[in-house]
Amino acid sequence: MRRLPGGARRAILKKEVPVSQGKKVPSMRKVADCRDYPSESNCTLTIAGEEDEVVRAAAEHAASVHGHADTPELREDVRKMLKDEKSPQAA
Ligand SMILES: [Zn+2]
Repeated sequence: MRRLPGGARRAILKKEVPVSQGKKVPSMRKVADCRDYPSESNCTLTIAGEEDEVVRAAAEHAASVHGHADTPELREDVRKMLKDEKSPQAA
């Protein structure tokens, strides 16, 4: 039997980051709003997340729902149309 010197420390990963320094949260989330895209289906889907996630999800959505080809060009277009997420009140 072995003992760890100083006892084993557990790394606790916190999901919640205390915002107490008046700093802006570094990871700005982006929003892709399907209502901003030209489409005939009046789709109202909104996808929010980090830029790469949103681009990917939006491209897949455009391909599966709107019949677009999921190409690098499409993803570029999606990326250009992303908006910054308005953070819900920091309460
Ligand atoms: Zn859509």
